[in-house]
Amino acid sequence: MRQKEISLNIRPLKPNDQEDIGDDHVGSSADTPLRADAFELDDEEKIVRIEKHFREIMHILGLDLTDDSLNGTPRRVAKMYVKEVFSGLNPLNRPHARLFENKYNYDQMLVEKDITFYSHCEHHFVPIYGKAHVAYFSSGKVIGLSKINRIVQYFAKRPQVQERLTVQIGKEIQRVLHTEDVGVVLDANHMCVASRGVGDTNSKTGTAYFSGKFTDENIKREFLNYINSINSK
Ligand SMILES: [Zn+2]
Repeated sequence: MRQKEISLNIRPLKPNDQEDIGDDHVGSSADTPLRADAFELDDEEKIVRIEKHFREIMHILGLDLTDDSLNGTPRRVAKMYVKEVFSGLNPLNRPHARLFENKYNYDQMLVEKDITFYSHCEHHFVPIYGKAHVAYFSSGKVIGLSKINRIVQYFAKRPQVQERLTVQIGKEIQRVLHTEDVGVVLDANHMCVASRGVGDTNSKTGTAYFSGKFTDENIKREFLNYINSINSK
């Protein structure tokens, strides 16, 4: 079985050397740091402005933007940022989870495993991708399984650090399901580690969020054994 590095420490930022901190991938808060005026511009205005600035970045890099292959790139990147990969910044895109009565009186752990997610490291703006495993005990209500998937995708579609993404998913599942009993494990690859910096292509990072019954060692083990029995196939 593969060893997981469970890192739960969300340490405060030290005031000096932001660049080193970025390379260590230390997050500063469980909330995404957004400004109060984050959504004063509408999506179309954001796309126009990002396009302009991305064109400038490409120009400074020396690229010939009159080339057919490059000409549409600034607009394409701007749309992708606003409408796709960072669409989870906008609270309007937060999934509405309809609750259902737990008619079957199912009172065991429910696990939704191997949810593939794609996110972006907020320190380098390159992909973080991997699998999320979410488990909970119903407090009398359940949600459609695809909603758990949507919640994972919503928080993944932000500039992120893996620890924060894990906590945000856990807290949202708690909020939506009115239950304290939530476990979340993320197993992810960081392109900023694999393709640059130390250039380690094999390391993975594991993070976990356990609350309520999941702080019990037996419950935690049951959940982790279930995930690992799938992953070690
Ligand atoms: Zn990074």
